[in-house]
Amino acid sequence: MSEKWVYAFGGGSAEGEAGMKNLLGGKGANLAEMANMKIPVPAGFTITTDVCTYYQKHGRTYPQSLAAEVQGALSKVEQVMGMRFGDPENPLLVSVRSGARRSMPGMMETVLNVGLTTRTIPGLIKKTGNPRFVYDAYRRLIMMYSDVVMEKAAGVEPEEGRGIRKQLDDMLGEVKKAKGYKTDADLSEADLKDLVARFKTRVKDVLGKEFPDDANEQLWGGVGAVFSSWNGKRAVDYRRIERIPDEWGTAVNVQAMVFGNMGDSSATGVAFTRNPATGENKFYGEWLPNAQGEDVVAGIRTPNPLNDATKNAQNENLPSLEAAMAGTYKELDAIRLNLETHFKDMQDIEFTIQEGRLWMLQCRVGKRNGPAAVRMALDMLKEGLIDDREAVKRVAPNQLDELLHPILDPKGEAKAQPIAKGLPAGPGGATGQIVFNAADAVAWTRQGKAVILVREETNPEDVDGMWAAKGILTARGGMTSHAALVARGWGKCCIVGCGALHVDSGSRTLKVGTTTLKEGDFLSLNGTKGSVYAGQIAMVDPTSDPELSNQIETFLKLADKFRKIGVRTNADTPQDAAKARAFGAQGIGLFRTEHMFYGGGENSQKALLQLRRMIVAKGEPERRAALDELFPLVKEDIKATLAAMDGLPVTIRLLDPPLHEFVPQGEAERKRLVEVAGITLADLDKRAEALHEVNPMMGHRGVRLGVTFPEISEMQVRAILESAAELTKEGRKALPEIMVPVVGMVAELDHQRAVVDRIHAEVCQKYGVQKVEFLYGTMIEIPRACLTADKIAETAEFFSFGTNDLTQMGFGFSRDDIGGFVPDYVEKKILPADPFQILDQEGIGQLVRMAIEKGRKTKPELKIGICGEHGGEPSSVAFCHRVGMNYVSCSPFRVPIARLAAAQAALEG
Ligand code: PEP
Ligand code: MG
Repeated sequence: MSEKWVYAFGGGSAEGEAGMKNLLGGKGANLAEMANMKIPVPAGFTITTDVCTYYQKHGRTYPQSLAAEVQGALSKVEQVMGMRFGDPENPLLVSVRSGARRSMPGMMETVLNVGLTTRTIPGLIKKTGNPRFVYDAYRRLIMMYSDVVMEKAAGVEPEEGRGIRKQLDDMLGEVKKAKGYKTDADLSEADLKDLVARFKTRVKDVLGKEFPDDANEQLWGGVGAVFSSWNGKRAVDYRRIERIPDEWGTAVNVQAMVFGNMGDSSATGVAFTRNPATGENKFYGEWLPNAQGEDVVAGIRTPNPLNDATKNAQNENLPSLEAAMAGTYKELDAIRLNLETHFKDMQDIEFTIQEGRLWMLQCRVGKRNGPAAVRMALDMLKEGLIDDREAVKRVAPNQLDELLHPILDPKGEAKAQPIAKGLPAGPGGATGQIVFNAADAVAWTRQGKAVILVREETNPEDVDGMWAAKGILTARGGMTSHAALVARGWGKCCIVGCGALHVDSGSRTLKVGTTTLKEGDFLSLNGTKGSVYAGQIAMVDPTSDPELSNQIETFLKLADKFRKIGVRTNADTPQDAAKARAFGAQGIGLFRTEHMFYGGGENSQKALLQLRRMIVAKGEPERRAALDELFPLVKEDIKATLAAMDGLPVTIRLLDPPLHEFVPQGEAERKRLVEVAGITLADLDKRAEALHEVNPMMGHRGVRLGVTFPEISEMQVRAILESAAELTKEGRKALPEIMVPVVGMVAELDHQRAVVDRIHAEVCQKYGVQKVEFLYGTMIEIPRACLTADKIAETAEFFSFGTNDLTQMGFGFSRDDIGGFVPDYVEKKILPADPFQILDQEGIGQLVRMAIEKGRKTKPELKIGICGEHGGEPSSVAFCHRVGMNYVSCSPFRVPIARLAAAQAALEG
């Protein structure tokens, strides 16, 4: 821990600087930096984050030397500002604000106007000649201080709606009502004077303590309250969402107050050095004359535009700062350029003009949306502000998500309250009318309606409805559940595992808490966040902007320069393959053969019927008959996909159907099946009964099917090798990789290899060739496969990590049932995140590392990739880079994200 607890700034110099964010917090470090740059900042000092940690650990007490250090720093502030704290003649007032390493907007507390007491009020009135202003400042202090320090930090828990702030607000409101005032600005000096006296009495009555009338007591009360607010509920919740560690702590910034509400030559504003919504290199901001900072952000008054570039329909008739205070605007504009050149990034700034004098209160790297991030990175590269490596780091991979899908209009969404939260399974937004089954989804869509398909959970019979719907919402299931996988592959908005929903498809109603929605009601989904809204929210579609598409393309090409590992896609149809290629995929890392039965089209329906017939077959002849019918359909799909990838590798996985998903439930499907199979409904029931497994995820699936029924593998291997042989004959290049799923023992792989070799010989003979090029490898998705990877690598030519199943079996968490408990685990911090979304590097990651090490020991050239859902998640992609995989594979819409994440991982070194 540092010996020095307090860092002063102001008057053209500072003890800290921008590089000290860990110790001084973002705000404190940048205030120091601005002071060093001779930018006018009100003098102040920062109490370090170490003090916060100390305070929390030592029963809310401070290091011994802190009081003296604060006193010393305060003296410096007094000197620079030419005023004294607590002085009756010439009083200095200060603000006390939080400032963590990373901005946590609105999550912690602030107290302004600290130092106003019955002793200092007359002096300030004399100095300003403005008693109304002084009493207004005092009533603001009482409201903030009693709430933040005397109630919240003291741990007082008032009854709902009886908090001190609310009570004082109500008193203010009563005065306004009684006197017929419209705004706070209408309150007279006499009103305010009377009000502050009554405020103080109320504070005493409610909280049992006098409002402190000593400047120092107020200061230390404020400091303690800010430190305590680090552990307030809001801040704790926010940290969990943003993954900010609890140990960071916040700094406290104590700074001389400057006032934007001292008359018409005073003002306050917030601005961005470039437009944060579009990225355009234009100064962008809002300001209010004669106001305090929170008036701008509170949204009570419509703020004025900073300049012409900031005008919009709401504010175009209000005067801009550029017009109203031309000189000050010029000064601000010069600071803007100075800050950008210095920090080499867009800054978000707060300023106050006190009686014509400009003060900067804050600067920090400005938040921006996806399109703006891409544009700014490219512009700044062109302007020579940053180099290409830096440009690539400037866009968060997940921000690309916003650019690849239509989304809910952020303005509309900000005004709406979610009725429920689920797992964000398919990104983007959707709005439409509720339907409760797939058939309605299809029918309503045909009538030109936009629908949201709401289900308890989905199964393959729902796919045509899922395809038709704009969005999918399920009460059960996890991020790797069937609905989630299928939706994500299509780039469709989808929320799963939304446990608060009570879906009654019989009565066609959906209950969430006290809200009941019925068929035809509107629902809006934000699939990136997992938020569900009742009603309609407008959509915006960034994908329709060709300029933006060009920028993304340019940006990703830049990223590719640094990327070391390949990016492939998980695609199950020739259409998906083509789309993924357009997104830059360098091959297919996972072709799930069984997904061809999900397509909903005519061929899929035919294939699905035969697959079902195969599943319920009794004995080999019946099974072979079904397989023979299936063969041309499977081959057609595989051949078209190999052709679409045109010489890029395509990993085709042998069937891994969890059988239960494919046994038909609906009457119509059951009837069709018994017809083609030539059996009765009673037979079907009997066979379905026999297929029933207690634990199908760990049942008869994957390679186990191929071992018990080698003819199933035979059919698929033949389809793959014949497709490749035919394409080669046609002068095309085909690079199939045959992949065996759910392998735990090398003997399983050897068993299937024998089948492959036999079919290979037959295909060679049929086409009159020496050999057909292919690789033979395995999924690594069972812990035992990791433990014995050295043996498995004797047979396998490649590994592909199936981290969905590896997570399922490593944790013992059913991937279809995690909606019921994993959110609680995350809430209670037992898990840092849903391990099906973000790879658990600590545990499952060890299995991955071990398998890579063992596999490469046997076969140094072993090709290794990942095809679990983590292959498109940025932090997991970085892990894959670090552990030496050759590629990651993810759903088509996540290919751009993976490309960027892999490039950034390479830049991290
Ligand atoms: C996996 O388990 O990670 C995988 C890719 O296979 P599936 O999701 O189809 O089980
Ligand atoms: Mg799997």
